[in-house]
This record gives sequence, structure tokens and C-alpha cells, in this order.
Amino acid sequence: MNDQLPEPIVNADSAPYWEGAREDKLLLQKCGDCGALRFFPRYLCTECGSDNTEWTEVSGRGTVHSFSIVHRAAFPEFQANAPYVIALIDLQEGPRMMTNIVGDDALEVEINDPVEVCFEARGTEDAKVPQFRRAGR
Ligand SMILES: [Zn+2]
Repeated sequence: MNDQLPEPIVNADSAPYWEGAREDKLLLQKCGDCGALRFFPRYLCTECGSDNTEWTEVSGRGTVHSFSIVHRAAFPEFQANAPYVIALIDLQEGPRMMTNIVGDDALEVEINDPVEVCFEARGTEDAKVPQFRRAGR
């Protein structure tokens, strides 16, 4: 990875997510009323509309739902990483995350591959971004 990548933009809804990432924990919002997990962080439950939100740590394990290999980055800061993998990961706990697959074998990724979370340092404020790598190889 490179030093030019942007740091996370934190807001009131996502702050616990990014605080968890600093400690190598993948935290998801959990509805305090119906129990549904959701990603990405947002104010209201996607299942029942409740604003009663808790946070819970999840396993960081999942499988690849789909992916794309990017050769021409949408933002210039990412071009040095190309080719790189953008993927949709189905977490073991249910929610689907858009993320990157990283690691030496990332470009050999296949649909249904098992993956696990890892945390990529970004910027000068100890920020980290949850990413995924192929697991069990
Ligand atoms: Zn709910």
C-alpha cells in the first residue's frame, strides 16, 4: 500500500466503527430493538427503522460474493495500487461489505473464497481501514 491513500472520513454515525478499527476490531451496528446487524454505519436500522443502536464485534470472516479488479483507479491516489481488487464480502454474520481484497494473492481471488479481515494503517492519526485477505491458504 502507499502513503497517499486518504484517511477515513469520520462522522457521528461511523465514529465507533473507526475507533474499533484502530484496535483491529471489526464493529458493526446492531439494532437495539430487532437485533439486525447492518453495514455501512447509519443512523436508522435498515430492517425496522429504529434509532436504538448498539455496536457489536463480529468475526471478520466471510466469503466473496463478487469482485472487480481495478486497473484504472477512479481517484488518482489509488492508481499506484492498481491493479487492485474491490469486492463485496458476505460476512458470516450476514451483512455485505464493500471492501478491498489485499495480500500477495489478492488478484487470484475467486467468488466464494473465504476471507478474513485485516487492518490497513492510513495517514498520520493512527487510522486504520478494515480490509480483507484470502483465508485458509
Ligand atoms: Zn431494527
